[in-house]
Amino acid sequence: MPSTSRAGSLKDPEIADLFFREDPEKLFTDLREIGHGSFGAVYFARDVRTAEVVAIKKMSYSGKQSNEKWQDIIKEVKFLQRIQHPNSIEYKGCYLREHTAWLVMEYCLGSASDLLEVHKKPLQEIEIAAVTHGALQGLAYLHSHNMIHRDIKAGNILLTEPGRVKLADFGSASIASPANSFVGTPYWMAPEVILAMDEGQYDGKVDIWSLGITCIELAERKPPLFNMNAMSALYHIAQNESPTLQSSEWTDYFRNFVDSCLQKIPQDRPHSEDLLQHAFVLRERPESVLIDLILRTKDAVRELDNLQYRKMKKILFQEAHNGPTTETQEGDEPEHGPGHTGTVSSVGSNQSIPSMSISASSQSSSVNSIPDAADDKSDHDLEKDHTVMSNSSVIHLKPVHTFMPSCITQIREEQMSGYKKHSKRKSLVELNENQSTPKKEKQEWLLKQKENFQHYQAEEEANLLRRQRQYLELECRRFKRRILIAKHNVEQDLVREELNKRQTQKDLEHAMLLRHHESMQELEVRQLGTIQKMRTELIRLQHQTELTNQLEYNKRRERELRRKHVMEVRQQPKSLKSKELQIKKQFQDTCKIQTRQYKALRNHLLETTPKSDHKAVLKRLKEEQTRKLAILAEQYDHSINDMLSTQALRLDEAQEAECQVLKMQLQQELELLNAYQSKIKMQTDAQHDRERKELEQRVSLRRALLEQKIEEEMVTLQNERSERIRSLLEKQAREIEAFDSESMRLGFSNMVLSSLPKKDFISPAITLIQRISLSIVLSLLLAFLAFKGMNYHIH
Ligand code: ADP
Ligand code: MG
Repeated sequence: MPSTSRAGSLKDPEIADLFFREDPEKLFTDLREIGHGSFGAVYFARDVRTAEVVAIKKMSYSGKQSNEKWQDIIKEVKFLQRIQHPNSIEYKGCYLREHTAWLVMEYCLGSASDLLEVHKKPLQEIEIAAVTHGALQGLAYLHSHNMIHRDIKAGNILLTEPGRVKLADFGSASIASPANSFVGTPYWMAPEVILAMDEGQYDGKVDIWSLGITCIELAERKPPLFNMNAMSALYHIAQNESPTLQSSEWTDYFRNFVDSCLQKIPQDRPHSEDLLQHAFVLRERPESVLIDLILRTKDAVRELDNLQYRKMKKILFQEAHNGPTTETQEGDEPEHGPGHTGTVSSVGSNQSIPSMSISASSQSSSVNSIPDAADDKSDHDLEKDHTVMSNSSVIHLKPVHTFMPSCITQIREEQMSGYKKHSKRKSLVELNENQSTPKKEKQEWLLKQKENFQHYQAEEEANLLRRQRQYLELECRRFKRRILIAKHNVEQDLVREELNKRQTQKDLEHAMLLRHHESMQELEVRQLGTIQKMRTELIRLQHQTELTNQLEYNKRRERELRRKHVMEVRQQPKSLKSKELQIKKQFQDTCKIQTRQYKALRNHLLETTPKSDHKAVLKRLKEEQTRKLAILAEQYDHSINDMLSTQALRLDEAQEAECQVLKMQLQQELELLNAYQSKIKMQTDAQHDRERKELEQRVSLRRALLEQKIEEEMVTLQNERSERIRSLLEKQAREIEAFDSESMRLGFSNMVLSSLPKKDFISPAITLIQRISLSIVLSLLLAFLAFKGMNYHIH
């Protein structure tokens, strides 16, 4: 255990800072006991430096479980240091002396429970409303700071002289909400606190429940189920309907308020803040309600039977200190320190019902608490703890409820101060002395009964102890088994979580691969599309250019031909002239030949013909000659004309033919080009189609491969998963088997270990304890009645 947790150790500076170093004996005088709790006593005292009146709660941390007590003290001091609110007790500091912490607080006149005790009747509704209002404001403050009081009851709601309501006793409080320990005072405990023993959690709503019970306590003097033993009450609270106000005298506001506080399901129960708006607390009431109540109480105390109710004189302490009172102090000499015997006798039940607390850290010690209780057993144990009211008398029974049925339960055992035990015994003796003995046999019978009873009780207690021990062992075993199963569940959850994580990772990876594939596909398609479009465009341009070139070429050819024709036309007269000359020459040659032939003929004729005839022959010849030449000339003209006309005609025709040929040639060429181009286009389209198909095939193949890979990985993962889970389950089954066979070896039946439903573990102990305590109560009542009968007889 760390040194800081050793009782009284101040090595940790954080702990040391919680305490003042002065000697409290020197600082505070005039100590008088005013209250009692589970830890020790509370005192009225005066601060010698300021003469201020204070209350001092003395808490011892020696003896058994000193470390736990020390931790409790540190917890309470830390809590008190944290809080500051008009409706919570003001904390003034803590001192250490002789293994006792002196917790100094503002002084209060008494608790709401003291009021009930003085008046012996319920408070009035407006008084209850005022007390509840104050307590609720204190609770709202705690809850808003995420704290839980956990022990709200009339005994822990104090009143100051000027009529202020103060929450006190933070020994059970929780600094955090939600909490889950089993803490509080049984009759005031909320159902969820009782059930929280079994892994549950609760929050500030538990204080609201306790406040509801406190309302009933103030209205009926006792909390519901108070006539039951604590265990049965716990069982009852957890299992049954919520209690309600019994009498019909209360207003609907009050009833409704109590009903809201006592909603069994915490979620249905309002928050403290909500309840501050409830008509029950908001309703008009005189401001002086509580001051009047205090005055009334003081008056009542002054009139109390001195012998029986001197304890309640504490309500007048402050008054006595502050100024003269009508009463004289009747020998109330204070005794200092715990364990001293005081002169203030106490017959009333001022001793509060102890609150309980369990914490996970006190598991080991809690198991020890059972033998402790048994070891301590002595006759004054009879006076301890649980209180059963019966008319005007009080009997103290063994605290049966301290035997909690769970191995994790620890009860804050009340530390009876010596004076209290002593004084109670003393008062019993006094009563015995007071009575005369008219019927001796009756007394003897009583003594015998008492002896019998003690014998029976010892036996029963030994039995109970044995059964308790067995039960605890069983519980421990069962608890361990539950822990083992819980561990297994956690292991399973962890493995599942890990596997799920991996599965999710794989799924993500696969989704990413698919996405990648899809975007790749899209890219490829887009790229191919672009390439093809570009190619088509290129071809189109090329074709266009080719066409343009061709057309230009055509035009040039035509232009050239035209130019040639023009030249031809221009050159035509020249050739004609030469031809004309040629014809002319031919004509002249012919004429010459003609003339020579004529001369030859003339000569011949002249020779052959007589001279006389010459003349006629010559004449005829001349005529002939002239006629022939005329024909020649005519022929010449004709052939010239003829030549000229045929020449022009031939030129036109030739040119026309040439044009025609060119046109045809060009046309043919253009057609060839067109055919070529459309062939290219078709080839390109076909190529594009092919490319697209190839891409599609490639992509779908890739996709198929990817899907196959994903499928394979999934199967592998699934196999791994079932393998891991199977081996884990096998391992866990082996563990459980080993645990169970060990249990069998130790003598526990498996069925008992595993079959009982979790929440039912209270009931066997209850029936056991109930049976025993019932028999004790019955025999005691019997004895008591006989005893009372004798008392009546005396008076
Ligand atoms: P426990 O934890 O044992 O219940 P408390 O703190 O409730 O201890 O104190 C026990 C009793 O002492 C209270 O019921 C009340 O009567 C009395 N008491 C406690 N504190 C004061 C105080 N500041 N002024 C007057 N009386 C007090
Ligand atoms: Mg208390």
